[in-house]
Amino acid sequence: MDSILVLLHTEDDGTLRKASLEALEAARNLGGVLSVGIVGGSAGPALSQIAGCGAARVLVVEGQAFAASRYSSDCPAAVAIFEATLPGLVIAPCTPRWARSLPGAAARMGGVADTHVTGVQFADGQVEAARWFYRQRIEATLRREQRPWFLLLEGGVAAPFVASGDSPAAEPLNPAVKPRSEVTGMVMPQGGGQTIRPEAELLFVTGAGWTKKQKDGAVHIDQAGKLILDFLGKADASLGSSKSLVDLSGEGHAVLPFLSHLNQVGQTGSTPRHPKGLATCCHGEEPHAVGWRFIQERRAVNLDANCGWARGKADVVYVADAFAVITRLNELLAKS
Ligand SMILES: Cc1cc2nc3c(=O)[nH]c(=O)nc-3n(C[C@H](O)[C@H](O)[C@H](O)COP(=O)(O)OP(=O)(O)OC[C@H]3O[C@@H](n4cnc5c(N)ncnc54)[C@H](O)[C@@H]3O)c2cc1C
Repeated sequence: MDSILVLLHTEDDGTLRKASLEALEAARNLGGVLSVGIVGGSAGPALSQIAGCGAARVLVVEGQAFAASRYSSDCPAAVAIFEATLPGLVIAPCTPRWARSLPGAAARMGGVADTHVTGVQFADGQVEAARWFYRQRIEATLRREQRPWFLLLEGGVAAPFVASGDSPAAEPLNPAVKPRSEVTGMVMPQGGGQTIRPEAELLFVTGAGWTKKQKDGAVHIDQAGKLILDFLGKADASLGSSKSLVDLSGEGHAVLPFLSHLNQVGQTGSTPRHPKGLATCCHGEEPHAVGWRFIQERRAVNLDANCGWARGKADVVYVADAFAVITRLNELLAKS
């Protein structure tokens, strides 16, 4: 078995996200000598989250220069940790930050990288990784001779690692970086607030129906927006959308201002993993339902009893007006 380096980065508050702890657990399940590298502004909280993980070495690149995601600092940080450990395999979560910088680090090390890996195991004396191709229609199992092999794992590949005991001692590294870009802040989508919450129990999906003429012959976009945001806040749900609805904004139609293509779920969108999903005003077309593959309990609200959800794609379909259903749900949630 190859030696393994688990490369993690911290969040703004210094902690590790769930996907990082899942990547750590996936690496532990492979066996092999394990090292952990952490990059971020301050690694203290992260170190307590990996306590008891059994890593032979823990290396840290920390400081203001490494607080924010930036290729010209993340790539040298990853390379420095790699050179100190010289592993055969590098396991990392497929976060936007690592997806931007680790393939470059792999190239500098003469290695290869696979992103969006959905499974990894050690079988018949070899490491095998699973990955989807052709817009998520074909799942392949990959083996590679070339080392180092960087594997960037999607969320949900393993249970998150649970810490126990004292934080491990960390070896600090200080790679030289000369960033030509300065991170000055974050710009949120119009409408404010974070609507994509990967850790939420519920995925709430909005479809184009919210913007269509309703039974009184009028559209009710403002009311739809208020109902949806109210529900998201009360249920602490993550917001997904059908492609039709997010496309409307690009075409200049009246739309829900807090939606962007980042919310799009489906064949050409994301494949989120939540225990439950509720689709509203969305037809349940195949390219959309492809993105629901990992949603365990699926329900839909649609006026049309013949919508796609009713054809085996949802566990429960409520044939009802979503405006009325969500209004009532919000009332019930306000009382609870
Ligand atoms: C190659 C390809 C890739 C694609 N990839 C994706 C993808 O990744 N993601 C994706 O979403 N789509 C994708 N699509 C598009 C997809 O096929 C559908 O066109 C799209 O998902 C439909 O969106 P919708 O259900 O919101 O809209 P519509 O089909 O317009 O459905 C609106 C629904 O709202 C219902 N409705 C209206 N008012 C109410 C109300 N008051 N209460 C309850 N229900 C109501 C209607 O009955 C209707 O069923 C792809 C298409 C292709 C060809």
